[in-house]
Amino acid sequence: MTSVARRSGPTGRAGSAARPGTYPGGRPGSVSRPDPSRRPQPAPPVRRPARAGPRGTLTVIIAGAIVVLGLWWRSTPGVHGLGGWLTGAGVVLGLLCGYGVVILVALMARLPPLERGLGTDKLARWHAMGGRYVVSLIVAHALLIIWGYAATAHVNVVSESATLLTQYPDVLMATVAGFLLLGVGIVSMRAARRRLRYETWYFLHFYTYLAIALAFSHQLADGAAFVGNLAARFWWSAMYLTVLVLVLWYRVAVPLRSSRRHRLEVLGVKEEAPGVISVYIGGRRLDELDAEPGQFFRWRFLTRSLWWSSHPFSLSAAPGADMMRITVKNLGDHSQALARLQPGTRVFAEGPYGAFTPGDSGRGVLLLAGGVGITPLRAIFATLPGHVTLIYRASSEQDIVFRDELDAIAAARGATVHYLTGSRAEIGGDPLSPRVLRSLVPDLDQQEAYVCGPSGMTSAAVQALRAAGVPRQHIHFESFEF
Ligand SMILES: Cc1cc2nc3c(=O)[nH]c(=O)nc-3n(C[C@H](O)[C@H](O)[C@H](O)COP(=O)(O)OP(=O)(O)OC[C@H]3O[C@@H](n4cnc5c(N)ncnc54)[C@H](O)[C@@H]3O)c2cc1C
Repeated sequence: MTSVARRSGPTGRAGSAARPGTYPGGRPGSVSRPDPSRRPQPAPPVRRPARAGPRGTLTVIIAGAIVVLGLWWRSTPGVHGLGGWLTGAGVVLGLLCGYGVVILVALMARLPPLERGLGTDKLARWHAMGGRYVVSLIVAHALLIIWGYAATAHVNVVSESATLLTQYPDVLMATVAGFLLLGVGIVSMRAARRRLRYETWYFLHFYTYLAIALAFSHQLADGAAFVGNLAARFWWSAMYLTVLVLVLWYRVAVPLRSSRRHRLEVLGVKEEAPGVISVYIGGRRLDELDAEPGQFFRWRFLTRSLWWSSHPFSLSAAPGADMMRITVKNLGDHSQALARLQPGTRVFAEGPYGAFTPGDSGRGVLLLAGGVGITPLRAIFATLPGHVTLIYRASSEQDIVFRDELDAIAAARGATVHYLTGSRAEIGGDPLSPRVLRSLVPDLDQQEAYVCGPSGMTSAAVQALRAAGVPRQHIHFESFEF
């Protein structure tokens, strides 16, 4: 285990060592290094756009669900007999499904207040969990409606299914939609997803848009809440249309406009460590992007083999007015190919995204990085005010990325860096146990902690911090997996 420590100044507080626009470690090919004797500069104020918190977002979602239940209540004069109860339950579940798919799409529409307030990984988790509920509701809706109609008409469920499919408007299309959504749900289950390439899973997911379009008309044509209720039809259609416009706006129009405006291109590629490279990306008026250290973009490099897929990578230095940097570990075919990018390659970037953007909480700050999880923390380390301790866990000395930069920033801002390298066997125990963390950061429970690394290391570190007395609300983490 190697430990390098830099003590803080008398006040224990420091400003920014590397201002946006300055790149400790330099552009590829240059040798510029930060001057440790330079007084740290306060980071320029960042314009923080509106953000929606989890509680507010959940309140809006639940309020919408209550309105949907109200719609069912108004359109259901009474429920009689077994058939009536089954049909009533099927109808209410159907309405909730129709509402639920809109929420699922809205969560993934890249809405800036949600992206910045909840963070993409939380949105993806909510989307995945909500998706499981909605698919279950769709199955229950179909079964209850068939059973309820069959009970009311005193026929068996097979002949009632045939009647529904052939004689009710648009039910056949809705059935195809239901199977499509069920299929997407199945390939999204953890066991299936692990066996699929990310891109295969991602493109299969696009069938949900087709399914939503196919299922829409049967709701208005067959739903008791909408037949003869123009206001309800209008409201329901407006809800779908609004989400469609938001998706097209934030997932297509805004990135296209941003690409035209900022004209991003690769400036160069620099090797940082075995299997780890930095890509320097230049552009115009990048400060207008309002990107913050800790955020990420979805990058699409316009070469013949890479243009068709975008991948998320965090900024590994505070964004400048004309340059950004990402640092990428070679984990698969895409990340490997980035090492061969040529200067001048056009880049299409969607973002900035992510809520892993600390403010000044007044507490001390602990940054805990594992492997390539150092990237967002490297950017934060240079700019976050206050007393900061960085703990960087890497497999070996050679795997440490940005060592010179981190040491220079630590010296300039009077911060502390601990490098924890080697396997558990070499170290003789868990390098991130509560005991070790307490020995490295004596006032650990007074820290605001930011953790980023592989998912196993991140959850172990979060548990250790909790065990060491850091309250849950003061622990923040980013997952590199959606
Ligand atoms: C918010 C966020 C920030 C990230 N920042 C960094 C960073 O700064 N540096 C870094 O090296 N890595 C980062 N990653 C991880 C990086 O995106 C993946 O390692 C990379 O996309 C792998 O692609 P591949 O084709 O090379 O490997 P593959 O072998 O195809 O994929 C490896 C794993 O990466 C994930 N993945 C693959 N493609 C995508 C995609 N298009 N979108 C999302 N996940 C994908 C999947 O979980 C997959 O199992 C980040 C991930 C996220 C979610």
